[in-house]
Amino acid sequence: MNRKLRVATTSLAGCFGCHMSFLDIDERLLALLDLVEFDRSPINDIKHCGPSDIGIVEGGVCNAENVHVLHEFRKNCKILVAIGACAINGGLPAQRNHLDLGSCLTEVYLTEPGLAHGHIPNDPELPLPLDKVHPLHEVVKIDYFIPGCPPSADAIWKFLTDLIAGKTPELGHGLIKYD
Ligand code: SF4
Repeated sequence: MNRKLRVATTSLAGCFGCHMSFLDIDERLLALLDLVEFDRSPINDIKHCGPSDIGIVEGGVCNAENVHVLHEFRKNCKILVAIGACAINGGLPAQRNHLDLGSCLTEVYLTEPGLAHGHIPNDPELPLPLDKVHPLHEVVKIDYFIPGCPPSADAIWKFLTDLIAGKTPELGHGLIKYD
């Protein structure tokens, strides 16, 4: 019997909507589990990515922890996939890119009525925010991109089954969307 492929997934600066769409493959998840086993993923709460065949990353890169996790995925995954608009172009979180980060933090935590906390959080446990939100390919090499916000479950299923079968994934008309 062939070895099961190992798949890791993570969400960086995303909303978990792409992972929810992944779970929307519904009963096909059982067929998928005949072919793959999961490494790090929100599905099993494993905290670090080990050697894997396929890494799937949702969300862009908005802080130092995101950079660390993305490098861990690139180092350990033979094939790295950016899933969804946030991973591909920064998506909604990147809407802050035209604003000054310091001004944002000042407004949210110090000056805006109703939101003021009296100080900008600076606990060393908190990851340092980056000035800009970056798409994944600006930080590491990405092998495949699945567009959509989120991509449909059918698109994710087609992509994965093509890849697992050793084929170049082809979504084709009807499965590629950009919203
Ligand atoms: Fe959420 Fe859309 Fe970003 Fe996916 S692409 S993480 S669904 S906002």
